Amino acid sequence: MSEINRAVKGTNDILPSDSHKWQFTEKTMLDIAGLYGFKEIRVPVFEHTEVFNRSVGDTTDVVQKEMYTFDDKGGRSLTLRPELTAGVVRSAIEKGLIYGSLPVKVCYIGGCYRYEKPQAGRLREFHQFGVECFGASSPAADAEVIALALQVLTTVGVQKISLEINSIGCPECRKSYHEALKKYFSSHIDELCDTCKDRLSRNPMRILDCKSEICSKIAKDAPVVIDYLCDDCKEHFEGVKRHLEASGIKYTVNPQIVRGLDYYTRTVFEFVSGDIGAQSTVCGGGRYDGLISQMGGADVPALGFGMGIERLMLLLENQNTEMPPAKKCDIYIAPMGENAKFKATALCNALRGDGFEAQTDICSRGLKAQMKYADKIGAVFSLVLGDDELESGKGKLKNMLSGEETEIILNNICDALFKAKQDFALDNLTNSISQI
Ligand code: ATP
Ligand code: MG
Repeated sequence: MSEINRAVKGTNDILPSDSHKWQFTEKTMLDIAGLYGFKEIRVPVFEHTEVFNRSVGDTTDVVQKEMYTFDDKGGRSLTLRPELTAGVVRSAIEKGLIYGSLPVKVCYIGGCYRYEKPQAGRLREFHQFGVECFGASSPAADAEVIALALQVLTTVGVQKISLEINSIGCPECRKSYHEALKKYFSSHIDELCDTCKDRLSRNPMRILDCKSEICSKIAKDAPVVIDYLCDDCKEHFEGVKRHLEASGIKYTVNPQIVRGLDYYTRTVFEFVSGDIGAQSTVCGGGRYDGLISQMGGADVPALGFGMGIERLMLLLENQNTEMPPAKKCDIYIAPMGENAKFKATALCNALRGDGFEAQTDICSRGLKAQMKYADKIGAVFSLVLGDDELESGKGKLKNMLSGEETEIILNNICDALFKAKQDFALDNLTNSISQI
């Protein structure tokens, strides 16, 4: 196949047969975020490259290996966002969101771009739902965003998922941890990959997140950050755990979680599942108290998470979760003859104006082909319009599933369809109750 017929490696099309699943999932995400007071924010797909270098961190895999960076025609270095937090923080500072009354809670859904090796659950274009909360330092805030993520996961139908949490401390307690890591990894320096050799002096914690087999093997026995927390960070972490327990949210402490982005402090968490293969993290997040000031804003604490929507979809599929079905066409109007076509158009427009999905022939087909199409799109009702119907102003509304026909006045079609839909729903309900 030539390139014009082939999607770019690592990208996916969401086809009409699947888009209702995405719509349901995305609506659930925004609705649930709304229950916690998070309002949607939309930021550009690209930013100045520096926005990501400064926030995500220039020793991370994302910045060192995965960014789509290019110069635009004006010679600016721009980057397609590998995640949304950096752009949202840039916007929150620039537009002054963090200078009003706090906390400020925002959420987003959007595409992310990373030059990674494509495989199941790992794409070059993928989508994230995420939230960011600015101005809250209490452990209650950490537990709140975790509860939000969990409510989204369970509401869309995830049946089994584990929450793993850790604390990676603040810059203060991390000093002694960095020393311990440097000491440990120095004794393995010859075995480390080239990137990690460089990380050893610049940012030894990043070695813990290296994907190379040998580095991750060495990292398994490295000192864990949770043993180096200062008293304030310890107390904060205990607070998060207590809040989770008070809400009945089950978790395990996994001292190995450090997250792949540099800006995290204190709480980090992941929702992981054994049902989606090697890329098992569906959602990752945590606190990033230093990021806003590091990006030039005020010293405002912050936290959030990013949830990979493709991985979530894969999980739902692998757990055989039933998603709500696509909405069906309410009525197909099949005109026979030239005059009937104009009436069909008028009736369809009246129906659409009243909120019904109505379709009619736009391919000049005969009745048989039209009814085949009505069947294919799953139309619930149909109406055939011929000369007789035009003359009498009446027609037969046919229920395509039961075959039942009801005589209606054409100019009264909206009320008639509304009543027929109600009767049909009631019949279905009565039938299912009698089957119980
Ligand atoms: P991983 O360790 O799997 O590479 P990450 O730490 O790079 O993940 P984050 O930057 O925290 O991931 O992004 C949050 C979520 O976005 C991930 O938990 C995952 O669900 C999703 N995600 C990240 N990278 C990809 C990708 N290349 N393809 C699909 N989903 C992704
Ligand atoms: Mg990654």
